[in-house]
Amino acid sequence: MKKLTLTIGRKDTVACDITIGYDIMDRVGLLLAKDYGKVKCVMLTDSHIASLYGEEITRRFHNMGLAVTMITVAAGEATKNMETALSVMKKLLELGADRTSVIIALGGGVIGDLAGFVASVFMRGISYIQIPTTLMAQVDSSIGGKTAVDLPEGKNLIGTFYQPQAIYIDLKFLETLPDKEMKNGLAEIIKSGIIEDIGLFNLLEAATKPIAERDRKILATIVEKACRVKKGIVEMDEREKGLRRILNFGHTLGHALEAESHYELSHGEAVSIGMVAAARISEKLYDLPSLDRERIEALIAAIGHPTRIPPSFATEGILGRLKMDKKRVGDTIHFVLIKKIGFPFVNGGIEENILRDVIEELRS
Ligand code: ADP
Ligand code: ZN
Repeated sequence: MKKLTLTIGRKDTVACDITIGYDIMDRVGLLLAKDYGKVKCVMLTDSHIASLYGEEITRRFHNMGLAVTMITVAAGEATKNMETALSVMKKLLELGADRTSVIIALGGGVIGDLAGFVASVFMRGISYIQIPTTLMAQVDSSIGGKTAVDLPEGKNLIGTFYQPQAIYIDLKFLETLPDKEMKNGLAEIIKSGIIEDIGLFNLLEAATKPIAERDRKILATIVEKACRVKKGIVEMDEREKGLRRILNFGHTLGHALEAESHYELSHGEAVSIGMVAAARISEKLYDLPSLDRERIEALIAAIGHPTRIPPSFATEGILGRLKMDKKRVGDTIHFVLIKKIGFPFVNGGIEENILRDVIEELRS
């Protein structure tokens, strides 16, 4: 097992260990039993993960001295809303949960965001543990303490910053993860390489085949490297006042494309096209070497994500969405760009005609 420690703040320091390993659930049960053996433990998961892993993990935790009660919600993004959050909180009350209780989030980003949100407000805040089961959640959403539920008007519009007590990443979960979900996570790992870690980027280029075959060793390496990138950035800027914004590389246009496609495009696909656009803008305006831009496009294509905007998307529609971006500041659309791979910066605003040109250029 590998352990990273995420530390936030100076005075009231919050530390959260990130443990990464293969088939570690027994050891996790033992560790959790030590801290939470005497309090009410509730595991929140979705119907899909419950049927794959629910019984096995409850039994393994039980054998290690940890009694957990499972709350299961429907799988899918549609579950991540206030109604579900309220129903989970009512269930917690029925189960006799109190301020000493702990919520264990077993699942992908949907469960992690929802469990974190509930934990942050239930009885003014109780402890929670992340056990991410998708690649996306392992390298991205479980780290950093962002919690959220969606509104009909948009995703993640309600939420809190609330750090989990610990994050346990078991790579064994990836063995049952559908390819589509795997690729979603890989897009975020490529992003981590582009913004912070040229070594990771080089490794991804060299290892597309073993990655596609889900070679255990290579997955362990890239997950750990991506977790390090995320952890390092969150430590410097927990609340996204500045530096953390670089994690949005590819996401400004990515979010616009996702919304414009009515979520037909997956997050990974949309962010992939967004990263290509950011690279092209960087090349045009900030002398990103053409070779770097080509390498980014080639790597994205090699993992099987699109590098072009589907022809059915209207340029004006995309531009309209960009102007509604949640993270815009006033009328300015900030873009995360790169000087070269590994050197990101936040641009103060891109002129609309440049954005229009790049969108047109990418429409195949
Ligand atoms: P994300 O982590 O990308 O936000 P979700 O939380 O929506 O994604 O999970 C995506 C889908 O994958 C859900 O249907 C979920 O039940 C399923 N899932 C999560 N983890 C696993 C796993 N380890 N094996 C198989 N399916 C999984
Ligand atoms: Zn993302």
